Amino acid sequence: MTDPIVCPQCHGRCGTRYGRLHLACTFCGGRGVVGGDHEPAEPPPPPERPPPALQQRGWSLLATVVPCPYCFGSGRVPHVDQQSRTLTSLPCTEC
Ligand SMILES: [Zn+2]
Ligand SMILES: [Zn+2]
Repeated sequence: MTDPIVCPQCHGRCGTRYGRLHLACTFCGGRGVVGGDHEPAEPPPPPERPPPALQQRGWSLLATVVPCPYCFGSGRVPHVDQQSRTLTSLPCTEC
């Protein structure tokens, strides 16, 4: 176990905001910090891919207006390129 640190993925913002939608950070689980009691490197391991918004609270409301929990119906998924620090989009693999 290590001392809690600010999440390197979301930099303590606990997630990513797309307009009015807020997606919890999958690295820290929306806590904004990792380590301490929330050591991500210890078992159980984090899932390979983020859980669908389907399993998160509030999705049932969203589902009435967007057809896909990953791309929100746009067919593209926002993606931050960590090297160039630019926001790009990738084709959605879920719909
Ligand atoms: Zn985070
Ligand atoms: Zn999709």
